Order: sequence, then structure tokens, then C-alpha cells
Amino acid sequence: MVKKSLCGLSADEIYEIIEPTGFTASHSILIANSLYKKHISDISHFDKIPKKLKEVLASIAVSGLIEPLASVVSKDNSVKYLFRTEKGMEFETVYIPDRKRNTVCVSTQSGCRMGCSFCATAKYGFKGNLSAGEIINQIISIPQAEKVTHVVFMGMGEPMDNLENVLKACNIITSEWGLALGSRNVTVSTVGIMPEVEEFLIRSEYNLALSLYSPFSAQRRIAVPAELKHPVRQIIELIKGYPVKKKRRLSIAYVMFKDINDTDKHLEELISVLKNTEIRINLLPYHPVLNEQSCSSSEERLQYFKHNLIISGISASIRKSRGEDISAACGLLAANR
Ligand code: SF4
Repeated sequence: MVKKSLCGLSADEIYEIIEPTGFTASHSILIANSLYKKHISDISHFDKIPKKLKEVLASIAVSGLIEPLASVVSKDNSVKYLFRTEKGMEFETVYIPDRKRNTVCVSTQSGCRMGCSFCATAKYGFKGNLSAGEIINQIISIPQAEKVTHVVFMGMGEPMDNLENVLKACNIITSEWGLALGSRNVTVSTVGIMPEVEEFLIRSEYNLALSLYSPFSAQRRIAVPAELKHPVRQIIELIKGYPVKKKRRLSIAYVMFKDINDTDKHLEELISVLKNTEIRINLLPYHPVLNEQSCSSSEERLQYFKHNLIISGISASIRKSRGEDISAACGLLAANR
């Protein structure tokens, strides 16, 4: 018999497993706590659980907690981890400490099929979707699991291309019986896939970050093939309607490439698209991937964009680059060891 993996199950789903053996819903909460709050990988060590239940559980299930295969530490103290699924798919996770805010950047797929021209994950190809358990494991099986305050879905893969598992993982991250983080501490990133973005907005309250590249469709479709089927301007129009209803943060991630998307024309267009909206823009330097000719805009240019966006009434910030020396920065994850 193949044993069921507990990691990735909700408290209700755990209860469905133990109910036939005569145990109660409160036992399923204790099991979830052992997994998600105490990160115990050995069922025989689960906390406050009757011995009989541990024996029954061990005969039909495994915890599903799997340690990373390898890790590398950046000079800025970010740590990149390599994981492998039981089926042999590899993917990476980055832990980013920053004073009181400790963020885990999780992958949702091994590789990605979106094919963005500037991204190392796209060059790695697409190997498959990760399950909710494989997503959660990236947070609770790293040595810093106790310290995690924020989770961002910005690692390998397009979260909207694996939406059900992403929403299931988000539910475990924010449930009281799970990791119990606030929904404001969870951010899901996308290049914009419909109808999944709309479904995400309807079904959840987590933050959404839209990766833009260019406000001009003709230019964007060259670098972000998803633009052909899912024009980003339509997605921006859609998300403009949501901030009032929900408390989530909506943002645009704008990676800046020298002489490509950092001209005055781009700045004017960004201002016209984002003026009078509650959408924030995060400006990021570009990290060149292998054989890529483009290079990042200068720090001065990023500051110039930020200044002009702010004086136009748009909330804008420059995101610090983290983990570049270990290929852990934005767009560099490619399961390399
Ligand atoms: S930028 Fe995101 S969506 Fe595009 S290929 Fe890379 S991981 Fe996939």
C-alpha cells in the first residue's frame, strides 16, 4: 500500500483519514499542529497525540516532510535551497532574512512553461507542477522554518498555471491550524494568465504581484509570450476593480532593462496606466542570465523612475537585490548545483 503524505492536507482532510479509526476532529488539529507549527517529520514524535493514533497513522501515512538536498549561502545571508520531489523533479527555494521580516520565496513548479526571454527558469524548461505539500514543505523543512514571517510565490514556475495547489498551500499557510501567517504576509506573483487571475481575486485575499516588463503590448509580447493570449492591460483593468473590496495589496513588478524599458516614453505610459489606482509599483534591477545581452538600468535611472512615479501620486519603491551571487535573485532560479 502506498502511504499517504500528510504534508499538504488540510485539518479536515486529515480528519477524513483518521475518522474511520475512531479519532476525533480535535486530534486532526493536533496532527496539523505537529506538522505545520512544530515541523516534526517523524510521526512517532508527533506532539500530544495518543500512542495508538501514532501507530495507526504511521501504518497508513508519512509526514511528507523532506529536507533540502543542498544549500548555498549568499554574502547578504540569503540562502538558496535545492529540493527534489519523489518523482525526481528539482526546484529551488530562497530564504531571505531582513531584520524583523524573514521571507521564503517558494517555487510552484519545477521549471516553467511561460518562456519569458529574460528568465533562467524558462531556459531550464518545464518538468511539472508541485503539489500543495511540496510547496508547503519548502517553508517548514528549512532550518529557519521557525523564523518565517512572509511567503512569496516568486520562485520557479507560474503560480496561476498551478492555481489549485497554490490556493491549497496558501490556505495552509494562513489557517489557524496551519502556519497561521496573516493573508497580508502572502504574495503571489504572475505574468498574468486568464481566467486564473480573476479566479484568484475572487477566491482569495492574498496579495497579487503582476510582472509587467513593458506597458506596451507589442514590446511585452516579444519577451513575455503570455501577452499574446492574455494582454496585460486587460488584466490591469481587471485588478483595478478589486482593491476596494478586499484588503490585499496589488502591485506591479517592473524589472528595469537599460535602454529597453527604461525610457521616458515607458515612464509616461506607466504613469498613465497607474495614475489614480491603488496599485503599487516595485522597481527592480535586472540580473542577466546566461548568454543574455541585456543589462540592468542604472541605480540613477531606477531612482529617476521612482521619483517621477511618486510625484505623479503613484506608490513606488525600489526593491533591493538579494542573493545575486548565488543565482537566487529574481529570474535566476534554474535548479543548478
Ligand atoms: S518570469 Fe516567471 S513566468 Fe516567466 S518564465 Fe520565469 S518563472 Fe516563468
